[in-house]
Amino acid sequence: MGNSRFKALSIATNRNGNSVNLPAYGKISAIFGDMTFNKESMRQYLGDETFKSILRAIDGDGKIERKAADEIALAMKSWAISKGATHYTHWFQPLTGSSAEKHDSFFTIDENERAIEFFDGSNLIQQEPDASSFPSGGIRNTFEARGYTAWDPSSPAFVIEKTLCIPTIFVSYTSEALDYKAPLLKSIHFLDKAATDVAQLFDPTVKKVKATLGIEQEYFLIDEALYNARPDLALTGRTLFGHASAKDQQLEDNYFGSIPERVVNFMKDVEYQSYLLGIPLRTRHNEVAPNQFECAPLFEEINIAIDHNVLLMDIMSKTARRHHFRVLLHEKPYSGINGSGKHNNFSLQTDKSENLLSPGKTPESNLKFLTFFLNIIEAVNNKNDLLRASIASASNDLRLGGNEAPPAIMSVFIGEQLTAILNDIEKSKEAIVGDKKGKKRSNIGISHIPEILLDNTDRNRTSPFAFTGNKFEFRAVGSSANSAAPMITLLTIVGNQLLNFKSEVDKLMAQKINKEEAITAVLKKYISNSKRVRFDGNNYSKEWLIEAKKRKLSNVSSTPVALQSILEKDAVKMYENAKVLSHRELEARMHIQLENYTKKIQIESRTYGDLAINHILPVAIRYQNILIENVKGLQSIFPKETLNNIAKIQLQNIKDISEHITQITVLVNRMIDARKQANRIEDVYDKAKNYCDKVLPYFDKIREHTDSLELMVDDELWPLPKYRELLFVN
Ligand code: ADP
Ligand code: MG
Repeated sequence: MGNSRFKALSIATNRNGNSVNLPAYGKISAIFGDMTFNKESMRQYLGDETFKSILRAIDGDGKIERKAADEIALAMKSWAISKGATHYTHWFQPLTGSSAEKHDSFFTIDENERAIEFFDGSNLIQQEPDASSFPSGGIRNTFEARGYTAWDPSSPAFVIEKTLCIPTIFVSYTSEALDYKAPLLKSIHFLDKAATDVAQLFDPTVKKVKATLGIEQEYFLIDEALYNARPDLALTGRTLFGHASAKDQQLEDNYFGSIPERVVNFMKDVEYQSYLLGIPLRTRHNEVAPNQFECAPLFEEINIAIDHNVLLMDIMSKTARRHHFRVLLHEKPYSGINGSGKHNNFSLQTDKSENLLSPGKTPESNLKFLTFFLNIIEAVNNKNDLLRASIASASNDLRLGGNEAPPAIMSVFIGEQLTAILNDIEKSKEAIVGDKKGKKRSNIGISHIPEILLDNTDRNRTSPFAFTGNKFEFRAVGSSANSAAPMITLLTIVGNQLLNFKSEVDKLMAQKINKEEAITAVLKKYISNSKRVRFDGNNYSKEWLIEAKKRKLSNVSSTPVALQSILEKDAVKMYENAKVLSHRELEARMHIQLENYTKKIQIESRTYGDLAINHILPVAIRYQNILIENVKGLQSIFPKETLNNIAKIQLQNIKDISEHITQITVLVNRMIDARKQANRIEDVYDKAKNYCDKVLPYFDKIREHTDSLELMVDDELWPLPKYRELLFVN
């Protein structure tokens, strides 16, 4: 008969090394973007005028007229059909987390009863998917259940699985955002305006500033047979049970180690498909934990980078299945083992391709660098709680502060050298750079910044928000998250901060203070403010928790509480001023996230109950019976007086197993009661908070007993694949 765990293991190990045939291709550049309707294909398929109008729209300047839209639709259709497409879909990112699509075929019957392929401007610009099953947080009442998707020309359409996918935003009929992309595009616009105004202080010819983003994506792989034998993984994305393996990551022999052949094949397949879709994957390597990996693309404009990451997660999941793997994007699939994040590398770039976070060769360019650098830190300092809220989820709560990922305290790492420079500037009485006539050159030495940064290898991996030479890296983002959530927040708080900065500088300049001095004065204030949020030490240490408290930096460990800051008066005012999200939209988002939190914990709780009672207890009882039979046998051959000595271990085991069985049953019942009470609560916040405070704490308590049983019960009987199997079979 054999147990399901061994069946799963034998399938998994037999598969080892089995590879799926990989497509052969030569140079990456020859296939890159082949399945995207990119500028090159547009130039080929479109008339000059229309091509120019779409270029303007891509830059966010100007609308596309209906006539041009018809021409673009026609071109897109011809191009897509030449790539084998039969259907098209509006591709969007609802607040459920992944991407959504509803396919329509090009095929139709015309008035002469001929079968034709049809697709025009109206199909391109707008669609009405049945929106009723997407979360709206109360925005969409049942009588206005419709929502519509609208084309985002700034992100290229692509063909995947014979379908033309058109990136779109998703909004309600009353124009409220129901997705991630709509507010993201607004925040990009807001940041652009604010940053351009500030960049013009240094170079009046700058017309545009865009945010750039490079997302490092961490993930785990697991053989599908093992995955299928773990209902907890299948239902919740993480293991709810499992005793630590004798060996896991303590030898640190995995990071950058050689990648198993089967995994390499999976990676190559993912890369091939990504290249076709114009996703510029650049690096791949092993991560710290066994069976954990990472890939990272070249950075791109933020909207495209996020679309590409959403697409990449989808490609990874589908490709994993083809290779008989499952990809785990959960932030903490295994307790006690490193979790997965998504490092968001972020910078600002002018229309002249100048990185504003890259120090230049002259003091003037370094003043510009310091301006953007310090404004971002000031934003993080002032809107600390919003940044924390932007990465909040039930699954990320398990990772943050797990002594391997940054804590829930949002601080900034800048390194020793930059700290020294900031200290010098703060002390100095002069302007950082003298006026144009060169009278008052300061000697604080900021022209050395670039060289200093080049050798700045001191990279603090424990910081949630680190400056890494020419960009900031936001590391607290969860591996399964849509990066738009944190990036909408970041762009808005930075844009808002730049507006404040500009008005402070303008005020001083109105008092006839020269520009450099005005900028210096404001920056000096920010340098002083920033001490609160700057921290270069070990973010995992206990000392930091104490220190952060002194600095009044919050350390919110749970999602329901973290989310509260979104609706604080100042936050609402800022989002509304920026025209990124309205009060109603913020409320709706909070509502959806709280509901989502509750559902996640509810599912985990049910899975705990089911697996503990129906999978683990019966096995424990079976094993206990074996021990009882054994003791009975011993009883029949040894005299009564000696039995206690001879069967000591067995008797103790029988007792211990009984104790665990009792405890598990009691705890599961109490947890079910707590759940019932929580379910009666109407208010979404109170309900989520109740799940967090009253239901969740049972998880670890139950697990303590089941994981102890795992060590006691005969290995052959144990129903679930063990950590050593999940982590080391590949
Ligand atoms: P590490 O693992 O050392 O943090 P990686 O090379 O894996 O670094 O990832 C760095 C990421 O940062 C890449 O995606 C890279 O494209 C991105 N990056 C580099 N420069 C910028 C920039 N100016 N703006 C945004 N992202 C950037
Ligand atoms: Mg990194």
